[in-house]
Parts: sequence; C-alpha cells; structure tokens
Amino acid sequence: MSPLAGDATSAPPATDDEQARAGEARIGHWVAGGLRTDAERYGPVHDPATGEVTGGVALASAADVDAAVAAARDAFPAWRATSVSRRVEILFAFHQLLVDHRDEIAAVVSAEHGKVLSDAAGEVARALECVEFACGIGQLLKGGYTEQASAGVDVHEVKQALGVVACITPFNFPAMVPLWMIPNAIACGNTVVLKPSERDPSASLVVARLLQEAGLPDGVVNVVQGDRVAVERLLEHPDVEAVSFVGSTPVARHVYETGTRHGKRVQALGGAKNHMVVLPDADVDVAADAAVSAAYGSAGERCMAVSVLVAVGAVADPLVEAIRERVARLVVGPGSDPASQMGPLITAEHRDRVAARVGTAAEEGATLVVDGREAPPGTGASAPELGQGFFLHPTLVDHVRPEHTVYREEIFGPVLSVVRAESYDEAVGLVNDNPYGNGAAIFTRDGGAARAFEVDARAGMIGVNVPIPVPVGYYSFGGWKSSLFGDLHVYGPESVQFYTRTKVVTTRWPDPSTAGVDLGFPRTR
Ligand code: NAD
Repeated sequence: MSPLAGDATSAPPATDDEQARAGEARIGHWVAGGLRTDAERYGPVHDPATGEVTGGVALASAADVDAAVAAARDAFPAWRATSVSRRVEILFAFHQLLVDHRDEIAAVVSAEHGKVLSDAAGEVARALECVEFACGIGQLLKGGYTEQASAGVDVHEVKQALGVVACITPFNFPAMVPLWMIPNAIACGNTVVLKPSERDPSASLVVARLLQEAGLPDGVVNVVQGDRVAVERLLEHPDVEAVSFVGSTPVARHVYETGTRHGKRVQALGGAKNHMVVLPDADVDVAADAAVSAAYGSAGERCMAVSVLVAVGAVADPLVEAIRERVARLVVGPGSDPASQMGPLITAEHRDRVAARVGTAAEEGATLVVDGREAPPGTGASAPELGQGFFLHPTLVDHVRPEHTVYREEIFGPVLSVVRAESYDEAVGLVNDNPYGNGAAIFTRDGGAARAFEVDARAGMIGVNVPIPVPVGYYSFGGWKSSLFGDLHVYGPESVQFYTRTKVVTTRWPDPSTAGVDLGFPRTR
C-alpha cells in the first residue's frame, strides 16, 4: 500500500472489478500541500511481480488539473520572491531527506515498477546529483554585467522564473525523472505541477511529502495523477508556461506540437534505440559484461538501455557466445528478492507485446540464441513460479538486419539484437541512419577509432567503453533526432536556461545638467 494512500471510504464506488479491488489503497493527488482522494475515476496499479492489483490511482479530470495549476499559480508570487538562500536551504534539507528515505523510496518504486531494489536505490542516487546541482543555483542564476556600454550607460542581464511549469513523466524512473526536473525548476523560482505515470504513481507522493518536510511552501510543487486527460489539459492550460516531458516518441511529438501551439516552451524527450558498437580489437569479456548489464538491467526498460549490439568483423562469434553464457546465468525474479538481478515488465500487455516481437524476429529470419519466452533450465525461475507476474526472460537475437521489426521498433524489454557489420563505417552508418539518437557507445582499445566515433555518431550522449552514458547531474541529458523535441536538454545547465527567461536592463543615471532632447536612434559610440 502506498505510504500516502488515502482512506478508501471517502471515495466514490468503483465501476468495475479491478477498480473495486483498487479501492483497497487510493493513490491521490497532492495539491497545495495536501492529499486529495476524491477523484471520479481510478485506474489500477499492479505489483508486476505477482500481477495483483495493489492500489487504485486517481485519474484527474480537467477540473482536478485546474485546481493543481491554480495552487501552483497562487504559490508563485511568494516563491519567486523567496530569497535564493532560502530556496537553497530547502533543497539542502530535501537532499538529506532523500538520503534518509532512500530505502523507503526504493521499496515504493520496486513494488509498483518491478525493478530490483538495488536498481531502484540507484535511481535515487542519480536523482541526488540533480538536487546537488540545484543547490548551486546562486552561481547559475548570475547574469552578465557590462559597465560603460555607452557613455554613462551600464547593461546587465537577469534570469527570471517563468511561472507554472508542468512536468510529465514516464513509468520507468518514477523517482528519478521527476527529480531531473523539479529541483532546478523550483530553484529557479518556478512552481510545478507534476503528472507522473499512472503505472507507478506512489513515488511522486513520497517526493512531494519530503519536499514539504524540507520546508517547501505548500503549492510550490503539486502532483496530479492521471492519464492523457490530465496531459491534454496541462498542454492547453493558459497558466502553464512551460512543459518538461519524458516518455515515448509518439507522445513526446504530440506534447511538443500541442504545447508549442498553445504558446508554451516545451522540451519533450522521447524513446530510443541505443546502439553499442564493438570493434574487433575490444576485450570480449569486458564488452560482454557491459552489453548484458546495459541490455537486461531493469528488464531493458531504460531509455538508455543498449538494445542493439553492432558486432564488427570477427568479434561477433566469440561475443555472442560470451553474452549467451552470461544470459543463461541471470536470475529473474521479484524485485524485492535480493537474489533477483532482473524483475518483471511493467504490465501484462507490455510483456505480451515484447514477447510477440521476439516471435516476429524469428519469423523474419533472425536467430533466437536465447528465447526469453521459455524459462531457461537451471535458473530457478521456472514458469509456474513466475507465471502470475509480468515476467519475460532475457532474450538474445542474432543476425538481426535493419529491416527487421525488432530492429526498427523500440522494444523496451529484455531483448538484445545483434547486428553484424563488416566495418567501422558500416557500424556508424547504422547508428546515424537510425531515427532515434539518444545514446550510442563504442567498445574498442583504439583511441583514434573512439575519437572518430565521438565526432561522427549522431546521438546526444556517447559512451567510450561505457555502455550507458547517462551524463552526471552537472551536464545535461538529452538525445537527438526522434529522441528529443525541442532545443534544450533536461537537468544541468541547459535546464537553468529552460526554466528561466532572460531580461536585459540598460541603465543610465544622467546628470540633469547635461540632459537634452535627442530624436536620433540611441548610439553607443
Ligand atoms: P508514455 O509515452 O506512454 O507515457 C509518458 C507520459 O505520457 C505518462 O505520464 C503518460 O501518462 C502520458 N501519456 C501516455 N500516453 C499519452 C497520450 N496518448 N497522450 C498524452 N499523454 C500520454 O511512456 P512510458 O511507457 O511511461 O515510458 C516509456 C517510454 O519513455 C519509452 O519510450 C522510453 O524510451 C521513454 N523514456 C525516454 C527517456 C529519455 O530521457 N529520452 C527517459 C525515460 C523514458
């Protein structure tokens, strides 16, 4: 049960069986510092490891969204006027609370997402980096100053808060992605309405509660739970100034187009198809360890997961064999079991969709080296044991070609496709021809080849012998091509640009004795 679930007796009766069961734990909105569970619609939240419905999440109406935006709008003037020192003091306290509650957050994430506890704790660790960066906002909000730009005229620049910012986030990092956005948004003086994924909504409420405990005034950060109804209202709401979105590419494109059409500043991060190129000189064991970790961690439900391995030349056979051996030893099980290395997928429908793509890969001519639709013998993960949860075992597909469905689509599951290439040029061509451009990695011992890849590859984040090159919190995160719509990446310095607008002030303190009428255009010389 969510730590912030409301009293089920106060909510209206559910309409179908799942929602009736979901009434056991009502996961509500957080508006103006308080929990609201009086929604008209609820959706089921599952424990993906068991398949059971564990709660019901409120699905906001347009009126619910309006209430949250109104709370954020009302909180804005006072928050914007709050000193930078006080904002930072609250962020420092919040940082400590995140550290203190790391295990609680990890447990909440694991229970609704399914990822293993150590992985869930890892997402809190990466979120901390973003809070640390925001604690330095005093340095980052400084504008430039030019003395004597003209005779007796000085010019300076200020960065001002935008107002209400909407943050719309995906299921796969229910704690980290909201915290990619919120710390910098509020450090810059904005107020926030967060719309988390309806699949795993409870982590957002823990974050909201901890921000309140840290001293954040009510209304500065609000949470509306919900689905596309809530998103559409946020995108058209006249009091929302900017939208930070992370999710799949079709929705990211829609959010970008709709939000900008309504005059908003939008950054919309989409899906991915991350390639890991392995050159013939690479260490096979190092590359195999990296590929397995990056492909199957979090059941492949990471936007920076490696989903395509491009094996160049003679490295292919030994590398595929080394990966196959490692995949056979992976322990699949509930995220709450410390022995598990990989948990279930987010929903039964998503598991079935991924499994169907595995079948299609075989039909289209690829080779199933490991077929995750069958429990591998000797793993302790027999089908009956895992049968109720949304599990799919790791899958390794070789001899994949660019025209195959498994290559063209973002699968977002524990499926690694191996494409064989003859040369470096062919490998980098695959990276560059792909419509996505989030991350790309190269494994080699050749510095010249690595440097060429850094220069050539058309992707926003590059790894050299690093399979998941997620930038640290003081750089910014974002892809190219269909992996990002908009101009500015999330967190780090680019987010300070995104969450502020600049104003340039030109100042003169004239000597009345020298003042006079001059109808000419102002000149600086
Ligand atoms: P999603 O696009 O289904 O949902 C993202 C958000 O949009 C959720 O809050 C959801 O409620 C809302 N939404 C869903 N459908 C909508 C619609 N039709 N109209 C309006 N809003 C809608 O994504 P997901 O399944 O939650 O997350 C997985 C996806 O997110 C993958 O594609 C993954 O690559 C991507 N992702 C990208 C990054 C990145 O940084 N580029 C990071 C994490 C996840």
